[in-house]
Amino acid sequence: MNDYYEILGVSRQASAEEIKKAYRKLARTHHPDVAGPEAAEKFKEIGRAYEVLSNPEKRQLYDMGGEAAVNGQAGGAGAGGFGGGFGGFNDIFETFFGAGAGGASRGPVPRARRGQDALLRLDIDLADAVFGSTKEVQVDSAVVCPTCQGTCCRPGTSPRTCEVCHGRGSVQRVTRSFLGQVMATTTCSACQGHGTVIPEPCQDCAGEGRVRTRQTLTIEVPAGVETGTRIRMSGQGEVGPGGGPAGDLYVEIHEREHPVFVRRGDDLHCTLPVPMTAAALGTMTTLDTLDGEQEIDIAPGTQPEQVYTLRGLGVGHLQRPGRGDLHVHVEVQVPTRLDDRQRELLGELAELRGEERPEPRLAATGSGMFSRLREKFAGH
Ligand SMILES: [Zn+2]
Ligand SMILES: [Zn+2]
Repeated sequence: MNDYYEILGVSRQASAEEIKKAYRKLARTHHPDVAGPEAAEKFKEIGRAYEVLSNPEKRQLYDMGGEAAVNGQAGGAGAGGFGGGFGGFNDIFETFFGAGAGGASRGPVPRARRGQDALLRLDIDLADAVFGSTKEVQVDSAVVCPTCQGTCCRPGTSPRTCEVCHGRGSVQRVTRSFLGQVMATTTCSACQGHGTVIPEPCQDCAGEGRVRTRQTLTIEVPAGVETGTRIRMSGQGEVGPGGGPAGDLYVEIHEREHPVFVRRGDDLHCTLPVPMTAAALGTMTTLDTLDGEQEIDIAPGTQPEQVYTLRGLGVGHLQRPGRGDLHVHVEVQVPTRLDDRQRELLGELAELRGEERPEPRLAATGSGMFSRLREKFAGH
C-alpha cells in the first residue's frame, strides 16, 4: 500500500495549501514532458496521492482506512462480483495525458459519465433452467444520490463557472521540453476539465452525484440457460459519476448439479433401477420427473442399459419453442441375497432354460453386449 503523504513529502498534519504546493512542485519535476516517459508511473502516483489528499472527504477516509477505503472497496459486501468502487483516480491521469492528445480541444468534459457495467453470479437449480424462472437478488450498487439528484451540489447551490479556464475546460500552458518552450493546451486542473467547479459539494455523496445502496432486482431467467450463460440487463449496472447513466448488469448463470438428472445440452439423463425379474417379465413403473410422476412401460425382455426416451421432458430450448428429451437408462438389478426358496426357483428356471452351465460365447456383430460397451465408451 502506498503512503500518499510520503509520496507528496508532506506531514500528516499538512494543510491543504501545503499539499497543493508540494504536489505542484513534484508534478513539475516529474511531468513526463520534462522528465521523460519513464517518469509516467511516478507522475501518476503523485497525481493519485494528490487526488485523495486534496479532497477533504477522501482524505478523511484515507486517514481512517487507507487506500482501500478511498477506493470504496472496504465496505463493498456485494452480492456478487461488483468490481471497483468509485473510480476517479483515472481522472487526474486523463487530465495530463488522455485529454492532452485532443480531449482538451473538445471543450468542457461533462461531469456525468456512464457508470460501470457490473457482473453478478446467479446460482440456479436445474428446474429453473428447464422451465425458466423469476429470481429476486440483492445487489450492492451505485444509484443517483437522492439528496442532490446527481448534480453533486449541496441542495440550494449550483455549479459555478471555473475562474481559471472561464468554462472552457482547458488552459494554454507553456512547457519546457527538449525542443525548447512549447505552447500546449492542457485540461484545466482547477475544474478537471469540466468547465465548472462545485463550490459546495453535496454532503451525502461527497460530490459524487451517486451513492452506494443495496437494491433488490428481479431477474427473468429464461428456460434453456446453462452455466456460463450471461443475461444482459440494460441500464441495471452502476450509476456513473455525476449521476451519469447506469452501466449494464450482466447476470452470469451457474447451474447447481441435480442429484438425479444429468444434463447434456437440452436433454436430461437418469437411471432407473429395475429388478431382474421385472426386466424379464415386463412391468409398469413410475418415475419422478421434474414434470411430476411419469408412467414407464418396461417391456418384457428389457436389457441392461436399455434407454427409454420421454419426449419433451428435457430442458426448454433457449431461443426457440420446445424442449429436449428425458432419457431413462435402465439399470437391471441382479439379486445378491437369495433365501432357500428363491434359490430353488431360480435353479429350476436355469434348469428349464438349460443355463446351469452357460457356454462361453463371444458376441458376434450386431446388438450384443460388446457393441453396447463400444457405444458406451465412445461417449454415448
Ligand atoms: Zn449528493
Ligand atoms: Zn477550469
